[in-house]
Amino acid sequence: MSRGQSFFDHTPESLQDWCVSRGMPRHASSQMLTWVYGNQEVNPAAMTNISGDHRALIAASLPIEEGREIRRQVATDGTRKLLIEWPDAEDRLPIAGRQPSTEAVLIPADARRTACISSQVGCPVGCRFCASGMGGLEGNLTAGRMVEQVHRLGRLGAGRITNVVFMGMGEPLANYKAVTSAIRTINAPWGLGIGARRITVSTVGLPEAIRRLASFSLPVTLALSLHAPDDELRKSLIPWAEHASIEDILAACRDYFEATGREITIEYLLLRDVNDRPEHARLLADRARSLRCNINLIRYNEVEGLPYGRPRDADVHAFQSVLRDARINTHIRASRGRDIDAACGQLRQAAQQAR
Ligand code: SF4
Repeated sequence: MSRGQSFFDHTPESLQDWCVSRGMPRHASSQMLTWVYGNQEVNPAAMTNISGDHRALIAASLPIEEGREIRRQVATDGTRKLLIEWPDAEDRLPIAGRQPSTEAVLIPADARRTACISSQVGCPVGCRFCASGMGGLEGNLTAGRMVEQVHRLGRLGAGRITNVVFMGMGEPLANYKAVTSAIRTINAPWGLGIGARRITVSTVGLPEAIRRLASFSLPVTLALSLHAPDDELRKSLIPWAEHASIEDILAACRDYFEATGREITIEYLLLRDVNDRPEHARLLADRARSLRCNINLIRYNEVEGLPYGRPRDADVHAFQSVLRDARINTHIRASRGRDIDAACGQLRQAAQQAR
């Protein structure tokens, strides 16, 4: 580990080394792992089977959490959103006067409790409809800070986290090393113990990184944020679409399916009168036929200051019908947390404006 050496950056081996190098018994590392991951305890003083001196040593020299919750919103449907401030950001870009902060969201639905976490501070992709992309990229999050987000959400009282999606702020594949390291801890039996199939990495589509992820040891679910069926419209919505054509991205997704056997999820955000017309649905159906995939249709949540509108219900259902008639597995994702700042980046944006 280079920096950001919080508890959540450690593996069992590195934690054991940390303990031994400070004169603690080897087994203190497994005791700590059980306290933090098993019992969801982050206060060293409560780790009563570790000696008092060693608890004091842990409290003084190994931060368990690095972030600070500065805002919390709870929606009537149980969705909870946290704004977490970090002491610094790795590879931080000089954006004057701003303390790095990111959002993490807990979405309870039936037996599922999904943690939606951020992988970067801000986002380099700059989607025109997104509050997170408005200020650009401020820096990367470490693996430990991604794991910490899941751990924090798991302690909000709704029960243990069952699913994790890297769909918050940032492009996860642009912070590849830290994201895959976090996935290992989230999946590990000694860590959060969440199955690979219940972990989703959502990308705007970086073909090289998708192929790299295909050879990663854990077959996580890959979600492609497509949002437009043709390159021209896509580039007008997603500046990073300049870097790769839809066809190149879909070819990499086909390789991902070949390597992992995991069906790709296509995320399609419906923007009123922009990409929600029947001709867009027909073109999307043509694209989707080339791939083993399912499509999630998402209704846009308006963001103050941005010129995009929420689609009409009739248009959403008509769009879905075109895809279903083409025999493409399509779902309309339920809107969650509409009575809070539900769209990605909105809570952070509101906090920055308030300052
Ligand atoms: S929608 Fe996602 S990829 Fe696009 S700017 Fe926002 S956070 Fe980045």
